[in-house]
Amino acid sequence: MRLPFTLLIDPVPADSQQQDFNGTFHEMDSSAPALRVGELSTQRGDGIFETLAVVNGHPQEIEPHISRLRNSALICELPVPNAEQWRAAIAYAVSRIPQRGEIALKFVLSRGVEHGPAPTAWLHASAAADFTAVRTKGVRVVTLDRGYPRGVAERAPWLLMGAKTLSYAVNMAAIREAHRRGADDTIFLTTDDFVMEGPTSSVVLRIDGGYVTPAPSGAILHGTTQQSMFDYLRARGFSVEYRDVALDELRRADAAWLVSSVRLAVSVVALDGDPFPADQALTDDLNAYLLARTA
Ligand code: PLP
Repeated sequence: MRLPFTLLIDPVPADSQQQDFNGTFHEMDSSAPALRVGELSTQRGDGIFETLAVVNGHPQEIEPHISRLRNSALICELPVPNAEQWRAAIAYAVSRIPQRGEIALKFVLSRGVEHGPAPTAWLHASAAADFTAVRTKGVRVVTLDRGYPRGVAERAPWLLMGAKTLSYAVNMAAIREAHRRGADDTIFLTTDDFVMEGPTSSVVLRIDGGYVTPAPSGAILHGTTQQSMFDYLRARGFSVEYRDVALDELRRADAAWLVSSVRLAVSVVALDGDPFPADQALTDDLNAYLLARTA
């Protein structure tokens, strides 16, 4: 029942008939060495991952996360994860960690050791940071050029744009650039000024009373939290839409949010140094809804 908690996983092929996955994963001492130096995840960032939240013992949105992991594997030409095995590993991990509070559960599939026989996989649970302040005060955001035009995913699939790969160095650099500019976070733009996503979040805007998010057409991730937010909004009778969003529309929006699995929804309160309208009441309600999810 302690954190951090680590589980090493021997990946089973997706088409295996195996039903019982006990024995395909084992607990590790989180402070002990677990990976080989030749690991391509560490050498080249060549792997994929997901992070889901466990809130008071409830892992949230397991199926959308597993399905995005499988999609990332297809894009990266990694062995497709066995969904049953990952469900079993997540259930086991959740049974071994504290049943109160907010926990980040990260699961990773790497191409493995160079010239090695098999991919490597693991699951790691740690206490989530305390996001109370940012959930209530919001974030100051700068827009940054991601360096690619709209449509890049179709033109250059080898850029792996729609995969959640371990190569987050660029994403972290964008957050540092935001800090240098006196902001907290970033919204990436295409070179032709369309809104993409944050370095660790999806972007949702309210425009003329309707809710809009950039279409996850291959260049950005399809956020699991954004999907939950759309469920929440649809159930309350609001219109929701996936479509291209130009920078001009972001500037004119009634409100905007960055949403992600562990930090949840945060209001954008400043954009490129100018104050930005926020709907904190909706943010509070939405976060209460997101925290109360039990699946
Ligand atoms: N986009 C990127 C680049 C991300 O890293 C993340 C989450 O980490 C998201 C979007 C939001 O995805 P989710 O809501 O599934 O956490």
